[in-house]
Amino acid sequence: MKLAGEYLTFDDTVIVPGLSPVEPHEVDITGMATKGIHISIPILSSPMDTVTEDRMAIALARLGAVGVIHRNLSREEQASMVKRVKEAVPSPWMEVPRASIREDPGILPMRMAESGSRALLLLDGPRLAGILLDPSADPGVWHGKAVWLWRLMTTIKPMPSLDSEGRLLVGAAVSPYDIERAKALEKAGADFLVTDVAHLHNENALGMLSRLVKSVSIEVVAGNLGTREGVLDTLTKAEGVAGLRMGISSGSICSTGEVAGAAVPTLTAVLNARSALEELGLADKIPVIADGGIRNPGDAAKAIIAGASSVMLGRFLAGTLEAPGPVINVGGKRYKPYRGMASRGAMEKRHAADRYSRPSKALEEGVEGLVEFTGSVVTRLGEMALGLQAALGYAGAPNIRRAWSASLARVTPQGRSEVKPHDVIF
Ligand code: 5GP
Repeated sequence: MKLAGEYLTFDDTVIVPGLSPVEPHEVDITGMATKGIHISIPILSSPMDTVTEDRMAIALARLGAVGVIHRNLSREEQASMVKRVKEAVPSPWMEVPRASIREDPGILPMRMAESGSRALLLLDGPRLAGILLDPSADPGVWHGKAVWLWRLMTTIKPMPSLDSEGRLLVGAAVSPYDIERAKALEKAGADFLVTDVAHLHNENALGMLSRLVKSVSIEVVAGNLGTREGVLDTLTKAEGVAGLRMGISSGSICSTGEVAGAAVPTLTAVLNARSALEELGLADKIPVIADGGIRNPGDAAKAIIAGASSVMLGRFLAGTLEAPGPVINVGGKRYKPYRGMASRGAMEKRHAADRYSRPSKALEEGVEGLVEFTGSVVTRLGEMALGLQAALGYAGAPNIRRAWSASLARVTPQGRSEVKPHDVIF
């Protein structure tokens, strides 16, 4: 028997506090989605049919993050979604000069209707002087969205994620076997592709990845991978890969670890990628994207300290207004659907939507369920970004690159429960 060692998870570790040269709100969280794409908020949304379609991708890119459109659609539909992101108005802001409001008070509702927004922030210099809500807007959602938008703009000041022509950036998921789809997505304007395979470390898949990278001129992120050997083989067999999507089986809706018994928890997968990249002298050249199981900014910060340049989020974003799917009322509480891309429902949809899809497995490796409705993605992104700044502040890191030299320490299960709220009645 061969034991590969111990695989640490987010909950096995804590961030070791370090001397910080800056205040938390000064921490620069600019990250990388690919070799060539820098984003002011280091977050990518998972390519899942309950997380990322055009609406989510537009909202994220406007705020400095980036969405990856899922592939549970025909090639044409996925390409149309990419096009809609590229055609969207890039800024979440609209300047309305004070003088024009005095002259014509009706200008604000008119501007609101034009922009398709249901809330306007009234600013007095950097101060939030008021929020104008459309009567049809759900105040619980839109008020939160407006306040978080203002908080983000006044603290992190994220730059929208834009291409060289000023259009919003967007990624799209592909199977490495589907070169036709990859070409259609490139033609539609996708800025990068992300391979969407549960276990890319497979000779056929790597051979196809190599062909895919050569067939398009946009960057390709390879995944998913978990081990050092997986990364080494990928980078030697598929030259030109522009990013690594790391993590096997940590996703909240994933049942691979249970069904197939295989897993590399995301924190360990990132450490493995880092070790392989260091061995190849590529540590700061090819970004690592930590994917799966990230529940809060602390988990995201641990992934970054381990060596990631950005994180990919599924569940964290699935409960938002901008995620596909209806808001469902159950017992007076609001939820949204969330399911694994290898769940029965998602696989059936894929095979129905895409006659070219390549059924590699008949077995389900994902579950379907509900997540709490969490309002606008602006709120969620704001919570994650500000929390990440705070966490890196504790680590003593003024930016992501410096965070790679910060430390994590292992805690015992007893320590884990001590560092959570305890012994109080909520
Ligand atoms: P979450 O953020 O919800 O914890 O994890 C999202 C990630 O789980 C996705 O980005 C993807 O890597 C992974 N994932 C999505 N669907 C499935 C599935 O059905 N099975 C498995 N094994 N992983 C999945």
